[in-house]
Amino acid sequence: MPTADSRMARLLAILARSRVDVLLCVRMTNIRYLTGFTGSDALLLASPDGAVFVTDGRYGEQARSEVRDAEVVVSDRKWSEASRRLGRARRVGFESRYLTVETYRLLARRREKRWVALDDPVESLRMTKDATEIRSMEGAAVAASGALLAVLAAGVRGRAETDVAADIERAMKRQGAEDASFPSIVASGARASLPHAVPTRATIGRRDGVVIDFGARRHGYCSDETVTLLPERPAPVLRRMFDAARRAQEAGLRFIRPGVRCRDVDARVRESLDRAGYLKYFVHSTGHGVGLDIHERPSLSIRSKDRLVEGMVVTVEPGIYVPGVGGVRIEDMVRVGAARAERITYLPKKTLPVT
Ligand code: ZN
Ligand code: ZN
Repeated sequence: MPTADSRMARLLAILARSRVDVLLCVRMTNIRYLTGFTGSDALLLASPDGAVFVTDGRYGEQARSEVRDAEVVVSDRKWSEASRRLGRARRVGFESRYLTVETYRLLARRREKRWVALDDPVESLRMTKDATEIRSMEGAAVAASGALLAVLAAGVRGRAETDVAADIERAMKRQGAEDASFPSIVASGARASLPHAVPTRATIGRRDGVVIDFGARRHGYCSDETVTLLPERPAPVLRRMFDAARRAQEAGLRFIRPGVRCRDVDARVRESLDRAGYLKYFVHSTGHGVGLDIHERPSLSIRSKDRLVEGMVVTVEPGIYVPGVGGVRIEDMVRVGAARAERITYLPKKTLPVT
């Protein structure tokens, strides 16, 4: 039985508010969050009568050792089993962003049921992190930052972006990470104006700035951090961009506390960039939640309707991207503490030269 404050119990309270008898959960990170299962194929039916976890023969042994708070069923006909297990439930909730149209059509043949599209029922629970989740993310950040420092100590100048990225990811694993939390970005010189640049064979030059966006995964939880390395004597324009991004990041970080609207953190960052004359070169939102997924709720963006709550983990990552010139981005991941942002990523953002 789930304990009163367990994740499953909190989910059931949400389902009750939506007047849903059972939730069909198909998104793997949500299933992991609710049951602890780390495999890649399963479905979960959650209801006040108990939860049923269905997977196939490949994951039987793993599921029996990992899954908590749910009955484990191993079946090679997962969807038939799910359909049977829905039993007499009348209102069935599903994750509208993740259930495929094909599966929906298959299930919806049972016309006696009402299918209720739910908007992020589990993701809304996942927004606030408990102490264990925070420890995992701190561990991920330590592995990632340690890896970056090791690679910088060996020197990146004169090396290909792809080699630097590969070295960072290998070093993360040596530092205890399961994996990188996303493919590392290493973008040098003018290519740094591409916010999501894919590393190339281009060599990092003496006068190049370098944007490195990197993160590790530990116990399934992600870290996310970006440094911009400056050459010894940066071009004045690059220096100005860097200082403006740092000031904007500090303005955003200073504003973070419980109760604040996410969109207002984004507004602080934009105001700061606007004062420096760089707002039009900021082409993404200020930040995002991080957890089992590298990008999750809440979003620190103009459109966000969420408010910060103690225990959320978000990034603050202003960037300035000037085509033909280059780019800077500075990103940290912080926990929303009782009164202020508490850093999870910890590398100094002021003093990192290209080595
Ligand atoms: Zn990042
Ligand atoms: Zn990020």
